[in-house]
Amino acid sequence: MCLAYLLGKGASKALRVKINIPVLLVLSILPDIDILGTFLFNYNIHRGPTHSIVVAGLVFIPLFIIYRKKAIPYFLGLASHFLIGDFIVGGQLQLLWPLSRSKFGLHELGFPLITIDSRINVALELSLFIIAIMVLVISKDWKVFFKGRLSNLVLIIPTTTVLLPSTIGYPFTDSLLLTAPALALAHIFFLVLFSIAILSALIALYRHGFGEGNKKQPVQTHS
Ligand SMILES: [Zn+2]
Repeated sequence: MCLAYLLGKGASKALRVKINIPVLLVLSILPDIDILGTFLFNYNIHRGPTHSIVVAGLVFIPLFIIYRKKAIPYFLGLASHFLIGDFIVGGQLQLLWPLSRSKFGLHELGFPLITIDSRINVALELSLFIIAIMVLVISKDWKVFFKGRLSNLVLIIPTTTVLLPSTIGYPFTDSLLLTAPALALAHIFFLVLFSIAILSALIALYRHGFGEGNKKQPVQTHS
């Protein structure tokens, strides 16, 4: 998520387009929806079609046609998941599915395998986290999480599928609090930030969306 934010933010600056940060963050974790395949159907397709640059490109064709350069930060956010993150850590990616079922990654290129719990990965993730927080603060992007925007509700996805599970244990055998306390702190930081964003959006929805509140302040639906 930090990597996607930094790339998306950089692209939005360079292209002079606005981005919806919560949507960008959700896109960055979306490829791992394939874990559900293993979980629900006992069928392992992890790091398959949802981690393919071919599939991502096809899905984004209509978005590029409709939104043009505004779609670029979101595409970068999505593609950075498998082209950078998973490529460095773990590999075994079917990047060209369905054109090829070959598996790609740094390890496949001959480099030593970097696993999710390796020191290199923890150092990489922590560095990205610190840089992302600095950019969030300097750019004042952090304010978006406190604005009660309806679109902030998309943060329910990373909160319940990534942050909460990894802090309490699943899909790892142990909680991150025990295996990688520094990473757990980063998770808890986002867990709290996203919970505030979700709660603010729900309060705004309750106040203005159901007609009980002050109609002078409509819920913001986009950035
Ligand atoms: Zn992945």
